[in-house]
Amino acid sequence: MPPKTSFDWANVRKRRFGVWRYRELLPISDNVEPVTMCEGGTPLIKLNRAVDGHVYVKFEGANPTGSFKDRGMTVGVTIAKHIGVKGVVVASTGNTAASAAAYAARAGLACVVVLPRGGVAKGKLAQSLLHGARIVEVDGVFDDALEEVFTEVVINGKKDLYPLNSYNPWRLEGQKTIAFEIVDELSEVPDAIVVPVGNAGNISAIWKGFKELYNYGLISKLPRMIGVQAEGAAPLVATWNRKSETLLEIEKPYTIASAIRIGKPVNWLKALNAVKESNGTFIAVSDNEILNSVKDLAQYEGIGVEPASAASLAGYRKAIDLGILNRDDSVVLIATGHALKDPDTISKIF
Ligand SMILES: *Cc1c(COP(=O)(O)O)cnc(C)c1O
Repeated sequence: MPPKTSFDWANVRKRRFGVWRYRELLPISDNVEPVTMCEGGTPLIKLNRAVDGHVYVKFEGANPTGSFKDRGMTVGVTIAKHIGVKGVVVASTGNTAASAAAYAARAGLACVVVLPRGGVAKGKLAQSLLHGARIVEVDGVFDDALEEVFTEVVINGKKDLYPLNSYNPWRLEGQKTIAFEIVDELSEVPDAIVVPVGNAGNISAIWKGFKELYNYGLISKLPRMIGVQAEGAAPLVATWNRKSETLLEIEKPYTIASAIRIGKPVNWLKALNAVKESNGTFIAVSDNEILNSVKDLAQYEGIGVEPASAASLAGYRKAIDLGILNRDDSVVLIATGHALKDPDTISKIF
């Protein structure tokens, strides 16, 4: 056979835009111009050495600012620009801030980020500064920062600032494309998806994505959704285990995984429904198990993630031990953010 002399450009172009490739499945009219950096389209990597079986990592650290938050932010900032606000505001454990700062810069919008003082990994704080966000620090944890945003925007009526926390439905619309990509890349629906859970937006969004594909008749089965929290910040695990109808909040959440150090997840009800409907569960893992998983992903697979992301591998291992998942189940672990986000934690491990 003669060597191939040209690329299939139509296909190359089609594959270039992760999130916006699925535009027909996003509720945004054609006349809206996306604010995009070609986010999404992240690698799905099969694990060969850290675990046996059919286990894949969806490496969201490969997004433009290094976390899955970019998938939601491209849609959220697109809408913010379209409706003509002056700027955006977010409370954040760090990655939402980094992403909002970058996309706001690209859109020419102002950006205010509200952060828990001392609770944000160095890389994320640096990104917010780099992209020109105004940083407001509050004493307390993420939940206090979010309350500050609520008070400023909803009660004090700062209508020129558009709030982009994960109660903002547009962000979840962007994040649901993780489900679309998994089906595209695997050409089938895995048995389970394992997701680190903080504010619980991502697990809700991914479930929404799978359900839409199912309802459109594009897939014929649904995966089980397994939500993983750190032991010291596990309000959804407690709520699930005790079958509580209301959220059992944690007043002082603590875990080394700062991205999921959240005691009052805003999307708790959606996440509970996702796990219930999908016949899944919530699992708690210790900081030690998280750090071991960071190390194993890095040293057996070459995949560098921040601590919160490794909760998915730690949760998978626990689910196997507890008999919740079988070794021959096909499973996708969502690796939510990049190792470079949190250099201080890495230097504590080694
Ligand atoms: C935001 C984030 C999470 C948690 O996602 P939620 O949607 O808040 O549940 C997990 N890991 C990383 C790295 C994050 O940035």
